Amino acid sequence: MHITVQIKDKSFELYISEKEIQDAIKEVAGKINSDYKNEEVVFVGVLNGSFMFASDLMKEVDLPCEISFVKVQSYKGVSSTGKVHELIGLTTDIKDKHVVIVEDIVDSGLTLSKIYSMIDHHAPKSVQVATLLYKPTAFKGKIPPKYFGLEIPNKFIVGYGLDYLEEGRNTRDIYQIIE
Ligand code: 5GP
Ligand code: MG
Ligand code: MG
Repeated sequence: MHITVQIKDKSFELYISEKEIQDAIKEVAGKINSDYKNEEVVFVGVLNGSFMFASDLMKEVDLPCEISFVKVQSYKGVSSTGKVHELIGLTTDIKDKHVVIVEDIVDSGLTLSKIYSMIDHHAPKSVQVATLLYKPTAFKGKIPPKYFGLEIPNKFIVGYGLDYLEEGRNTRDIYQIIE
């Protein structure tokens, strides 16, 4: 049986279950816990999409850590606009600290390069990226994310924080567009 949902003018079908998401998060957290053992980490979540992943990831992190959020915007509907605007900047002191950027999804990598430059500006000790989802075939950036939960093909998805025209963020599973 296919579970489908309608969001505004588009139909979506169940694609990644809650269990698969949570298992992937535990794996990512496990790697972070061992790589940063005995170190302090500042997590920087990218709003809005990463709010659920950031929340679940933090519950699995076993390190002295802080979390802060920034907000940028690039997507309109189902495609990237090609320009990334900073809506909320960084308010936490990250100088000489290990930073892990927390993203919902890395697609073209454009958002990530904007976030990198926002962060780099504050002279952190190190910067890495943890993303729940990664679309390797869409990625045009230089440095792929070090930590990712699941690799997915270049198809539009919603749920678990990710939106279609701001709707559909409030699900435990992830849905893929039906074309
Ligand atoms: P990028 O700049 O890497 O192309 O896109 C990054 C941002 O675009 C993500 O953080 C996310 O907010 C949004 N995005 C990219 N792919 C998707 C997708 O398949 N579905 C949704 N809902 N948002 C996406
Ligand atoms: Mg995002
Ligand atoms: Mg969006």
